[in-house]
Amino acid sequence: MAVKKTKERKVSKKKTTQLFQSPKGMHDILSNDQPFFLKIRQVGEKIADVYNFSKIDTPILEQRAIFERAVGESSEIVEKQMFAIKGKQDNELVLRPEGTAPIMRSYLQHSLGHFSQPLKLFYEGPMFRHEQPQAGRFRQFHQLGFEIIGADDPIYDAQIILLTTNLLEELKFKKTSIQINSIGCPNCRQGYKKKLVNYYRDKQSVLCADCRKRLAINPLRVFDCKNERCEGLKKEAPIMLDNLCHPCSNHFKLVLEYLDEMPLPYILNFSLVRGLDYYNRTVFEIFSDEFNFALGGGGRYDYLSQMLGGPKVPAVGVSFGIERLVEVMKVKNIEGVIVKKPKVFLIQLGNQAKRKSIKILKALYGAGIKTAEALEKDSLKAQLKAADKKRVDFALILGQREVLEDIIIIRDMKTGAQETVAINKVVDEIKKRI
Ligand code: AMP
Repeated sequence: MAVKKTKERKVSKKKTTQLFQSPKGMHDILSNDQPFFLKIRQVGEKIADVYNFSKIDTPILEQRAIFERAVGESSEIVEKQMFAIKGKQDNELVLRPEGTAPIMRSYLQHSLGHFSQPLKLFYEGPMFRHEQPQAGRFRQFHQLGFEIIGADDPIYDAQIILLTTNLLEELKFKKTSIQINSIGCPNCRQGYKKKLVNYYRDKQSVLCADCRKRLAINPLRVFDCKNERCEGLKKEAPIMLDNLCHPCSNHFKLVLEYLDEMPLPYILNFSLVRGLDYYNRTVFEIFSDEFNFALGGGGRYDYLSQMLGGPKVPAVGVSFGIERLVEVMKVKNIEGVIVKKPKVFLIQLGNQAKRKSIKILKALYGAGIKTAEALEKDSLKAQLKAADKKRVDFALILGQREVLEDIIIIRDMKTGAQETVAINKVVDEIKKRI
């Protein structure tokens, strides 16, 4: 028994010397980074308001089957990247890897089609994908997304792309570019897929193992591959735009005409297919020069509703990766939300003053005056130093004598000038000065 205890102690000692770390690819957002996140959320809300979108929040957990059907069983996300919560096999829950399919689930569940259409919804929140972490790629990341549900007119594709560029302009991003393509509909894609398989038939030995599999299950997915050998082959591959059916070709032509009408520049990217099965027709991504990752991406998903068992509900949307936007803001010296410094610093000297401090702080907080303090410090010198560090305009000094006389000293931290006021007047006196 005694021996066992020693062993246990040894194990627990070893554990406590090693500090816990956040899970791989998942990060704490410390206070230094919060102003960037807040800025993006504020701009997102402003854009949502101007474009008349309403907010929607969906749970972080959803049924695995939603993503299997919507994003596709052969997609990287479903095949390799979902974090599952152990449960009953036929009702397995996963941490959501993206936001669009859950919103369509919610739209169908709550019969949101009964409201006037199109329904414009936006969301913001954490997403989870078990990826190999690298620059701009995490296992927990945040997306800000906008969806227009119940509209198949190409003018809405243009509106979403306008919103996409507008949001980045509002964040003061310069030199951004939209890459756009059309991946047609299930009808025209059938013929195209055959051509693609034919093209790759005698090149199988060059393709990576994943792409050989993709070619058999969902040939379009070969365009998602970043493997160098596969990249080379993509360049000569037949392109979807040459194989669109008449309605899809017409739809895409109109989207481009609306973009030209504004005008809003774009780059045609024939190999842009996006890694999620629910997309059809228009797909696009937005980039910022100097960064080789997309800041956001989106497209049309007219069949998603049917994939989830509902009626046909045409829709188009976009989602941004917030961490990637933050990265650009930092590199380009774009400010986040400006955090106001405290206006005053309360200094207390002695037990009675400390007791009284809580009431004075209550009054200052109640009046909305941002106040700092160092209540664990006792000396005047240490507290004045702390006040200096916080770069406050005024320090309030409450000592033994002041408590007895019900007064408090207001010290102007710039000039060093000091004045004495009645404690019950201090809030008004500070308000006058700030
Ligand atoms: P998607 O949902 O794959 O269409 O991605 C939309 C946007 O989310 C991308 O353009 C990225 O900005 C961002 N994003 C996607 N995956 C990640 C990830 N693993 N880490 C960080 N951002 C991501």
